[in-house]
Amino acid sequence: MHPLIIRSASRTTLRCRVGNLKRGRLGHGRDYSVLSHNGQSASLVLDNEDVFLVMRPVGVFQMNEYFLACKKTGEAALVDSGESSSTYFSALAKDTSYSIKHLIQTHAHIDHVTGLVATKEEYPDAPVYLHRDELPVYDQIEQQVRMFGVPCDAPLPPVDVFVKEGTSINVGNIDLDIMLTPGHSPGSIVLFHDHAENPFAFVGDLIFEGSVGRTDLPGSNPVDMQKSVERVCDWLPSNSLLLPGHMGVTTMDREKKTNMYVREWAAV
Ligand SMILES: [Zn+2]
Ligand SMILES: [Zn+2]
Repeated sequence: MHPLIIRSASRTTLRCRVGNLKRGRLGHGRDYSVLSHNGQSASLVLDNEDVFLVMRPVGVFQMNEYFLACKKTGEAALVDSGESSSTYFSALAKDTSYSIKHLIQTHAHIDHVTGLVATKEEYPDAPVYLHRDELPVYDQIEQQVRMFGVPCDAPLPPVDVFVKEGTSINVGNIDLDIMLTPGHSPGSIVLFHDHAENPFAFVGDLIFEGSVGRTDLPGSNPVDMQKSVERVCDWLPSNSLLLPGHMGVTTMDREKKTNMYVREWAAV
């Protein structure tokens, strides 16, 4: 049993042990819970009857890695393997009996793939998902190591599934609809789960709380960035939780009200 989580009859009753559950606030003021384990901590972002979603900033760039699990089927995914999975998330998966079946990449910058080689070794049957337009970035990991001066195991594992806009990745019963959102990098994607009460979207480095991703990197394109932000703002319902690659979780509604890039580009 995981030291932090008490499991009773079913996965739908996962709860944190009192004492290890702290209350905190996400950037936009929502309450959230901190799961801490051996000095490492992560944020429990969603825990409803269908979805168990945990976020953990990892590495020198504090990239948000996500663990998304379907409570109905026990299937789980890692979104952006920025840390070797043999740390927090693999312990979490083991102790909660979720099985990691998908390794999903919003894009291929070094902070988002730092742990991918080790993670793929640990979960060899879990396909790596990436958009084909991101391959030049993915294939140039050695150049990224030199450019950013941080280590990363390479070569990266072969991509198993090239995702396309208009298709979905199914993590158990959780459908993630894909939109291609170039700008920060050529093949960045947004993955959206449409849900009546708790819609959410992994937005990678497209939109942050109060900001947007850099467009001064190799493969970036400021014009595409603006278009992508505009399209995503049109697409996602206002109550969508935005799960970015860095900084706090926010909502579409909040960014439409307070993010000057979103306000200008999406004309809201
Ligand atoms: Zn990036
Ligand atoms: Zn990043």
